Amino acid sequence: MGKVYLIGAGPGAPDLLTLRAARILDRADIVFHDSLVHPEVIALAAHARIVAVGKRCSQISTDQRFINRALVEAAVRHETVVRLKGGDPMIFGRAQEEIDALAAAGVDFEIVPGVTAALAASADLGVSLTRRGLSRSVVFATPRIGDDQSADVEQRGWARAVAAAETAVLYMTRGDATVLTAALKSAGLVGTHPAVIVERASLPDGQRIACTLDELPERVRQTTGGPALVILGEVLRETVEAQIDAAAEGTQRSQKTANQ
Ligand code: SAH
Repeated sequence: MGKVYLIGAGPGAPDLLTLRAARILDRADIVFHDSLVHPEVIALAAHARIVAVGKRCSQISTDQRFINRALVEAAVRHETVVRLKGGDPMIFGRAQEEIDALAAAGVDFEIVPGVTAALAASADLGVSLTRRGLSRSVVFATPRIGDDQSADVEQRGWARAVAAAETAVLYMTRGDATVLTAALKSAGLVGTHPAVIVERASLPDGQRIACTLDELPERVRQTTGGPALVILGEVLRETVEAQIDAAAEGTQRSQKTANQ
């Protein structure tokens, strides 16, 4: 019986992978990977059979029960089985279902953490999620409750948790941003609450859009379909104000050009 490694591949940039992950990939016999994992990371598993098991909103993804079963079966045949997930496996990665399946089948397993997207986004922004005197709590939340559902209007627990946090990071916000904003406002956040959308954190073509909560539905349209998250909180106020100032300057400049 082999061993299954649930490995965090990090947020995107391949060199954010841990050394431990790289060493295990080097001796892996079979790798089951999500679609957000960078090809350079997968290439580190030079001797392994590579199996793509999807997992991207609204794209074909392999059924979770199939993945659980495949991991158990692979462990019977191979010494080193890798389940490679984007970011950290323990944050919105359905790791618990795989852990439970492996434990129930008596398969040995190990978790290798990775850099979760929220932390890569914070690094890209150069803004600390915690800050003396401003933020002593960070909440990771998602409005998504299942594969086929976007923002859920009925269950507002996530929105309450976000409204109560000094800093919040929202994963999987691809659904309707109008619904999202409305849910957060009815949970107590004001329309001027600072927000930043971070798309493709840690990657060279990543982008950051600073706005207010009220502007979120409009600004989400500027994203290009890559993985994105939304950070909310007072720690972002300066970032948002700087963007508003820059936009105002831009308008003045283009008005001047138009007048010339
Ligand atoms: N386990 C992963 C999260 C999986 S859920 C982690 O720890 O990061 C998938 C969601 O993560 C995406 O919908 C998006 O909200 C977020 N995400 C993943 N990679 C990202 C990136 N490079 N930039 C911004 N958000 C990202």
